[in-house]
Amino acid sequence: MDGPLSLTVNFWLPRPASLTKKRIADGPCRKPDIDKLIRSSCDALTTAGAIADDARIVRIVASKRYVLPTGHVGADFAIESMRPAPCPHASGATEAGNCARCGAKA
Ligand SMILES: [Zn+2]
Repeated sequence: MDGPLSLTVNFWLPRPASLTKKRIADGPCRKPDIDKLIRSSCDALTTAGAIADDARIVRIVASKRYVLPTGHVGADFAIESMRPAPCPHASGATEAGNCARCGAKA
């Protein structure tokens, strides 16, 4: 993907073998740092060709959690374009017949 991008990523970390209920509720508020996980993921998405360059990312929403007992350790990603949708030409036409908002032939 190219152009301005939004990245949503959830990191699923392995559960330590001995984990109290309080620690489960707290989540993995310890290493690895979430910003380091994000950094390596952005590099990997670029290397894999999923995105043109990690500089395209203008928005990130991220979380890290302990994996569920039935889940898999890893990460899931959603990448969306931040480019505005094309003009729907709903604002009416000028006398010349062009869209009053974007100027395209309506
Ligand atoms: Zn328009």
